[in-house]
Amino acid sequence: MNLRALSLFILVVVVNGIQGQPLSPAAPLTVLSKEGRRPLAVTLVGDQEFVALDDLAVLFQLTVREETLGAITVSYKGKTIVLTTDQALASVAGKLISLPAAPVRSGRRSLVPVEFISRALTTVYDTRLDLRKPSHLLVVGDLRVPRVTIRYEALGTGARLTIDAAPRAASVVSQENDRLAIKFDADALDVALPQIPAQGLIQAVRVADAVSIAVDLGPRFGAFRATAQPLDAASRLTIDVVAAQTDTSSPGSPASPSPGSPGSPTAAPSAAPLPDLSGVGQSASAIRTIAIDPGHGGDDTGVVGSGGTKEKDLTLAVARRVKAAIEGRLGIRVLLTRDEDKKVPLDDRSAAANNNKADLFLGLHASASLRRGTTGAAIFYAAFDKDAEDKARASLGTERLPTFTGGSRDIELLTWDLAQIRHVDRSEQLAHLLEQQFHDRVPLSPHPVERAPLHVLESANMPAVIVEIGYLTNVDQEKQLTANEFQNTLVQAIVDAIVKFRDALDADRGTR
Ligand SMILES: [Zn+2]
Repeated sequence: MNLRALSLFILVVVVNGIQGQPLSPAAPLTVLSKEGRRPLAVTLVGDQEFVALDDLAVLFQLTVREETLGAITVSYKGKTIVLTTDQALASVAGKLISLPAAPVRSGRRSLVPVEFISRALTTVYDTRLDLRKPSHLLVVGDLRVPRVTIRYEALGTGARLTIDAAPRAASVVSQENDRLAIKFDADALDVALPQIPAQGLIQAVRVADAVSIAVDLGPRFGAFRATAQPLDAASRLTIDVVAAQTDTSSPGSPASPSPGSPGSPTAAPSAAPLPDLSGVGQSASAIRTIAIDPGHGGDDTGVVGSGGTKEKDLTLAVARRVKAAIEGRLGIRVLLTRDEDKKVPLDDRSAAANNNKADLFLGLHASASLRRGTTGAAIFYAAFDKDAEDKARASLGTERLPTFTGGSRDIELLTWDLAQIRHVDRSEQLAHLLEQQFHDRVPLSPHPVERAPLHVLESANMPAVIVEIGYLTNVDQEKQLTANEFQNTLVQAIVDAIVKFRDALDADRGTR
């Protein structure tokens, strides 16, 4: 400390000795703008945070003048804020603005409460200023800086992180060795980190960089699943983590068969609903998008039961449930070919699935029979007559086409209306997996898996089936089909079949 600094120090002590409140440096504010981030020094007087007017002048191109005794003017582009040194007030164009404290002197600098920024400076400044006191951030301009709150909870033998970003911000989760990286689509983050108790699954949650959070994984980590869900004004990301399979600290687990694949981690039984981790590794999965086609719609009501149930309403209700379950539990995108009561041509339904590159097509219908006693679900996959198959196979040639980069590549040509032909084997496999999962849960018809020349399936360029969920012409089954409990069971069976199907595809592709 040189002599000048020493004398300033003494002066400060004397000045504040008079006021009875010591000055002490505090954690700086971080100023975020398009130009980047920079610190803004903060000084504590008592428990009030102050910033220096000359620091603000540099940051925001303000002109600060000490006027006649006791008055300070702060000007920006012709607008002026007037402060008085002994008053907790500012005035702008004749309007008084209250401040939590009066300006103080620190040596030759004038300090103002940080609230000066949010209450007074914002009234003259031409760019948005967003002061976030709890997180010590000052956001300048229209930057996307979501407030991210993270909650930890133990869940059975696993753990869950619930990460809310407000306003909404999309995020991507990836595993990099011993950590999960959560990268947000934002300019910066305003993060509140949780306390993590010791449990061996999640060691720590920390800020990795301006837009990423890192989750350090512990020795018990086995697998994780991330699910995104939009809330009213926030995005919610739920990350479920389960222990490695060798970590079977729960003696009761063999008694509870898991619906998941044999290779996936089995969660122990618990009162709390445990995460279905069948979505683990979804980024590498063969199924990323599923098209669900609720049959009929609009003036095409489909079958009408004696109780008045319309097939078009039933299929839409079930389709919505299946969509919610698949998206919520598996994190797979689901496209509905219709999400309202309207007529959609069959070709448009398969075209929507094709254009959205769906990896699986699931049509939903209900059946009718002249024999009122007929009941049970059935699963259909496409049938082609011999001629059509020959024609399709003949057209399955390749053609060499020029590319934009000057080379050429082989394009597989296929008659569009017979796109299903090369997926028929997979469609049959999916039909049988559905039958297996329905078994003992959803009543099946005597011939539950059938081939039929169904137009909507023929042009679907992915494994495709239609599930006839039951007979609306049977009085008892009509009641059953519209009941919550039955629909939940049906949806779970469909989800389980999709998990099995995906596991089979992934195993074939060697992605696991
Ligand atoms: Zn139908």
